[in-house]
Amino acid sequence: MEGRAAVRSPARTCVGCRARADKSDLLRVVAVTDDARPGVAVLAPDRLGRLPGRGAYLHPHPRCLELAERRRAFRRALRLTGPPDTSALRRWVAQQGATGPYTDRTTAG
Ligand SMILES: [Zn+2]
Repeated sequence: MEGRAAVRSPARTCVGCRARADKSDLLRVVAVTDDARPGVAVLAPDRLGRLPGRGAYLHPHPRCLELAERRRAFRRALRLTGPPDTSALRRWVAQQGATGPYTDRTTAG
């Protein structure tokens, strides 16, 4: 029963809650390498969707990030050999929840 012929923006699956969502509602996450720590994959938000390599899609929400970490979804989605460093991504997501564009209501009215 999926007779959708002309879907404009592609749907992706959040690696945290596993819900399908519009690509634009999800944050693309890529693994980058840190020169100071060879072999460690550092997860980074790719807001513009321009960074090369494999990407995982996640709701920019702390709960989804936690779910993704718990089920090691990033390792699977990004084909990592070890547990990634999520501290930078965690901070970014936390900031989104606090002051990000999703709850942007600064002194309105
Ligand atoms: Zn999610």
